[in-house]
Amino acid sequence: PYTLGPKITDWDAQRETWNTLNAGMNQTLSGKPKTLLVSGSQPGPCANPMGDFYHLKFLKNRIDYARLHGLEFFYNMATFEKEMSSFWAKLPLLRKMMLNHPDVEWVWWMDSDAIFTDFTFEMPMEKYGNNNLIVHGFHNLLYEQHRWIGLNTGSFLIRNCQWSLDLLDALAPFGPQGPTRVKAGELFTEKLVDRPAFEADDQSALVYLILHGDPKWKAHTYLEWEFFLHGYWKYVVYNYEEMMAKNHPGYGDERWPFVTHFVGCKPCKLGANAENDECFRQMERAFNFADNQVLEKYGYSHRALGSFKTQKIRRDSSDPLGLENVEHSEQIISEQE
Ligand code: UDP
Ligand code: MN
Repeated sequence: PYTLGPKITDWDAQRETWNTLNAGMNQTLSGKPKTLLVSGSQPGPCANPMGDFYHLKFLKNRIDYARLHGLEFFYNMATFEKEMSSFWAKLPLLRKMMLNHPDVEWVWWMDSDAIFTDFTFEMPMEKYGNNNLIVHGFHNLLYEQHRWIGLNTGSFLIRNCQWSLDLLDALAPFGPQGPTRVKAGELFTEKLVDRPAFEADDQSALVYLILHGDPKWKAHTYLEWEFFLHGYWKYVVYNYEEMMAKNHPGYGDERWPFVTHFVGCKPCKLGANAENDECFRQMERAFNFADNQVLEKYGYSHRALGSFKTQKIRRDSSDPLGLENVEHSEQIISEQE
């Protein structure tokens, strides 16, 4: 079967040796284990230029979140293994990230169609103990109902360790483009509840391994449901205004979703239809909802969630650091294009 590369069996020991030789490298400035945020999109242009416009906006969103929370960030636009195309591209990429960044403890994958919508919230890493995979999902949907949407692989954290390399190795044989992927798709559709007939995807492969593979996969996977590590866009985007009226960032859950993921939208594909128009409209709103939290520091906000136009919300001050404790007014000063 297909493999991602030479079998590695002692990665934990190799990493430990490297980190001993390079003491201090494996911590952030504030002394925490390092997290590398990883995302990517296809090497060529989108058939629909609007798709690239939103790739760029969503990339900016990740750069902002990583900057504000001390995450390292890698964005990939290269094909690493041609057999591992589309949603399978993350497998060889994650392996490369782990092997070439032994100082990094966690690799955080985020789909190109997902964005951070709570800029205050941080992953509660202390609750995950010795789990190696943190993924959004629901116990009843996954373990009781065996549904293919029991978890979502659009945004997850995976520990840089032997278990994770083994998981990638176990997933990889389902992925090669062509007959292998088609056959695996048939198996997943047969075994997983409500899965439509289509070629194998990485999410189904993970669900399949957790339910039917080695028990060690389930044993070290943490299903996160207390906040939106992945938030299905249709459940959150229509509530943004109400959230802004009633709540504030920092919750990460339905009060203020951590991540909004545009599952099912195909922004890169050509062909305008009502569904696609709604995707773009809501992507703009999600981006602005998030971006308001970034712009606030600089005294700006978007005029409306649906508008890329901005407005000044504070008068500039001769005491920008507030050292003299003067009152700052919060009102619309002037509208910007
Ligand atoms: N992806 C990538 N390179 C590619 C194709 C896809 O890095 O050549 C990534 C991209 O981030 C995308 C994810 O793989 O969001 C999942 O792929 P899928 O086709 O499921 O796209 P989605 O429906 O999530 O946009
Ligand atoms: Mn996605």
